[in-house]
Amino acid sequence: MSDKIIITCAITGAETTKAANPALPVTPEEIAQGAFEAYEAGASVLHLHVRKDDGTPTQDVEVFRKAINLVRSKCDIVIETTTGGAAWMTPEERLQPVTLNPEMASLDCGTVNFGDEYIVNTLPIMRQFAKEMKERNVRPTLECFDLGHVYASHILIKENLIEAPFHYGLVLNVPGAAKYDVDVLEFFVRKLPAGAHFTAFGIGGKANVDSIYATIALGGNIRVGFEDNIYYGKGRLAKSNAELVERAARIAKDCGRELAKPEDVRQMLKLRKN
Ligand code: ZN
Repeated sequence: MSDKIIITCAITGAETTKAANPALPVTPEEIAQGAFEAYEAGASVLHLHVRKDDGTPTQDVEVFRKAINLVRSKCDIVIETTTGGAAWMTPEERLQPVTLNPEMASLDCGTVNFGDEYIVNTLPIMRQFAKEMKERNVRPTLECFDLGHVYASHILIKENLIEAPFHYGLVLNVPGAAKYDVDVLEFFVRKLPAGAHFTAFGIGGKANVDSIYATIALGGNIRVGFEDNIYYGKGRLAKSNAELVERAARIAKDCGRELAKPEDVRQMLKLRKN
């Protein structure tokens, strides 16, 4: 286990709106500024979704390209593009940002309820995503929302579609999927392949803060940001993504962990050298 801890910031997501938190970064310019502030606060990975001008989520490769270039002009944070997209998107649509050869990309490991909606990920879809990422040397973050997803990831690994070092994203508390509880998280972690890295987080204010402590205790990495939680405390909106990163960084340091810098992440996860 490395003493260095990775903080990922998921600054925008697909579901959060400016009506819910006016500080949500939406345009590529706002996203680049938000990413820079998160980086300065201690984040070393940016989990990136983009939006159209009217705020609806899009997987449009040109919007991703613009956002990535703007982020790159400000800092060297590692960029992980989403392939989860939004509930109504086709797999082909969702996969588009991977064609830009980001260093990392999320790979959802199973079909999942998302409140009243759902995102479909059959094994053939997952194989298609994994294959595309492998060919481009993009490191997948194996996102698991339910226990079956962890087992589905084992199939992809067995089929040599995913190569070590493995990096998991354990996403708990999505309505309709596995709830966040410390023992649930601990069980997921026990079922990961030996030596796998993981980033774990609960969705929603209380679970989000609680999961920072549990994840550190279990030797994992942290994710915060408006995609997962818009509150700093009960009834108090977070002022910015950076404010959430600052708290996560403080907790990690209090627990004696050193924050990984982007170059540390590139080494730990053996990211492609550009
Ligand atoms: Zn996401």
